[in-house]
Amino acid sequence: MTAFEIRQVPCLGDNYLVLVHHPESTTTLVVDVPDADAALSALNETGWTLTHILITHHHADHIQGVPAVKAATGATVIGPAAEAARIPGLEREVADGEKFELGGIRIEAISTPGHTLGQVSYYLPDAGIAFTGDTLFSLGCGRVIEGRLDQMWASLLKLRQRLPAATTVYCGHEYTQANARFALSVDPRNAALKARAAAVDAARAEGRPTLPTDMASECAANPFLRADDPALAAAVGLGGAEPARVFAELRTRKDHFR
Ligand SMILES: [Zn+2]
Repeated sequence: MTAFEIRQVPCLGDNYLVLVHHPESTTTLVVDVPDADAALSALNETGWTLTHILITHHHADHIQGVPAVKAATGATVIGPAAEAARIPGLEREVADGEKFELGGIRIEAISTPGHTLGQVSYYLPDAGIAFTGDTLFSLGCGRVIEGRLDQMWASLLKLRQRLPAATTVYCGHEYTQANARFALSVDPRNAALKARAAAVDAARAEGRPTLPTDMASECAANPFLRADDPALAAAVGLGGAEPARVFAELRTRKDHFR
């Protein structure tokens, strides 16, 4: 496997931006730019020269640092075609299923609407990593703001089907501990979930990130990826219901969970 170097940078309280560096081609990407200063100081520390800015979706806490980072580095801004009008400085649009290469890095865009209508996740097969923005979180998923609940379920299923179990997953926010509390409320006997929740508590107690995660552990522990598990359907009083209906119940309960 080609070597990659990755730096995940916390910023704005609970956001992350991630730098991916490919030494062989000296290509460096950043995925989402919540904060320009955080991006530029990480670049300064690593000595990497930014070549591309990848955007998952148009929300301000993912794009507001783009103009300043673009001005400082000249990197090319890439993002979802469906949100082109809402992402300032977008130079290259990507659509669902599109495969492209940046320097030496192969990338696949996977359209995952629901949180926003145009949100795209990015899969880098040679690095074995994916960026799911505000669609898939560890032990959770994004709020369904622009799309429909069944659309979000379809997007999560798509990620589950497309991303190999060993894929390392980077998410837009450090929400894992709160997500774990909700997940345990609907799936209290899930051993994988209990183990992950304990590890998350330990990490947060030491101020460490709980991300990245990986698809295998999310498929085992994240209730939003398991809406088609009959045991989980039964646990929310919807035994025998369609998975999309179970997902809708889970997401709605999470919206009101305190
Ligand atoms: Zn968002």
